[in-house]
Amino acid sequence: MKFYPEICSIKDQRMKPFIDPDEIWNLINNTKSTAERVGEIISKSLGKQRLTMEETAVLINTSDPGLIEMIKEGARELKKRVYGNRIVLFAPLYVGNKCTNNCTYCGFRTSNKFAVRQTLSDAQLVKEVEALEDNGQKRLILVYGEHPAYDAEYIASTVRTVYSVKKGNGEIRRVNINAAPLDIDGFRIVKDSGIGTYQIFQETYHKETYKNYHLGGKKSDYDYRLTSLDRAQEAGIDDVGIGALFGLYDWRFEVLGLIRHTNHFEACYKVGPHTISFPRIQDAASASIDPRYMVSHEEFIRLVAILRLAVPYTGMILTARENAMVRKEVMKFGVSQIDGGTKLEMGSYSASINEEQDLNKEQFKINDSRSLNEIIDELLDDEYLPSFCTACYRKGRTGEHFMEFSVPGFIKRFCTPNAILTLAEYLEDYASPATAEKGWKVIEKNLAESDPRQNIREIRRRIQCIREGQRDLYF
Ligand code: SAM
Ligand code: SF4
Repeated sequence: MKFYPEICSIKDQRMKPFIDPDEIWNLINNTKSTAERVGEIISKSLGKQRLTMEETAVLINTSDPGLIEMIKEGARELKKRVYGNRIVLFAPLYVGNKCTNNCTYCGFRTSNKFAVRQTLSDAQLVKEVEALEDNGQKRLILVYGEHPAYDAEYIASTVRTVYSVKKGNGEIRRVNINAAPLDIDGFRIVKDSGIGTYQIFQETYHKETYKNYHLGGKKSDYDYRLTSLDRAQEAGIDDVGIGALFGLYDWRFEVLGLIRHTNHFEACYKVGPHTISFPRIQDAASASIDPRYMVSHEEFIRLVAILRLAVPYTGMILTARENAMVRKEVMKFGVSQIDGGTKLEMGSYSASINEEQDLNKEQFKINDSRSLNEIIDELLDDEYLPSFCTACYRKGRTGEHFMEFSVPGFIKRFCTPNAILTLAEYLEDYASPATAEKGWKVIEKNLAESDPRQNIREIRRRIQCIREGQRDLYF
């Protein structure tokens, strides 16, 4: 199919690269942070307006400990005020780790001859999904290496297989994808299989650094990668997820790169990314990483808080790459989704023995290997409301984070009730008795604190239906 790129704004053209390193460095080097400016910028964000790159640079350049506290407090307040206490849960599922690329930080790179290569057969995929359903998962992200065997048709067929698996009361209601970039026709094929979000991380927005870390294969083309989610949008996928792999280059540059990417989407497609991910580099089999840009815990928390304030209506994903303590801390600053019960070794969800982590079988090392039940238990202790909600996507309400943020009463009408109903299902079907007891108390507490104008009677009626065996009730 022929496509004629259009100009979206003076700076942005569809499917054309948009990162100007001089623009980013100029902002980092020449933007001053003052108490007054930081205060104004936080107020702007709390007033539900997203920040410009210059305003984000002010926050990035803030080094005064008192002002950094103010930024963190602003992010905490924004999360509380706008999104409330919900945390959405998902699990990654590795479908195939064959890879023709040579990303030097990744255990699956082609030059790692010790990597155990595997692609799940249909039967193995079904077994993995059944095991995930038995744990209570409802949302998955399927992950693939980049390889001719994992083309659009193949990805679409695995998505269809995942949706077809139903075990007991279990089913997967939203399948997201983290896979190689496709062309527009390829993205269309995958879209038609019914995916939620297509995630592709730029890894680093700094072109020179990108070249040094991507030593072969299709992924070594920086511009093709940078414009990949434009092609997804051209194909009609409007839920796209961006991300940077923190630790490859200066974190300040990457944060502004993510904001520039967001601006580009808004200029060209009138919608920002659905989610932002900020994975921090982890140990991988014989990985080669320049230690200069490692991000400390303190910097990591700061950058998450800055991102929250900069793009207040974008979902933010924190994964089990981080340990339980860091996750607990970082979650306060605006994270909306985490994975739970994560296993990266292929085929391991359905394996009966719990093997030690083996780096030659995994892409990288994870640091939070707790079960989904353990994670939910801790979320409940910390007064979060765990959610498996997939309602917006299934009701065709795309741009859900934007609606949560901008439509008055949206969270009260839809998100909180759906979080409660999906948690109720989990408690009935999968939770340990102790977690179930805690969970029902948290549900009661949330109902008691709900706005009296909300249809609490209808929510209670549906909870009763769930207790009597009905499933998949949502607003
Ligand atoms: N192969 C596809 C790709 O590269 O886009 C998709 C999946 S890749 C398996 C998912 C993501 O894992 C990568 O985009 C990268 O950000 C991240 N990753 C790779 N190596 C990592 C490491 N050592 N530590 C943390 N994250 C890593
Ligand atoms: Fe392959 Fe992705 Fe790993 Fe790069 S990050 S080597 S593309 S699996």
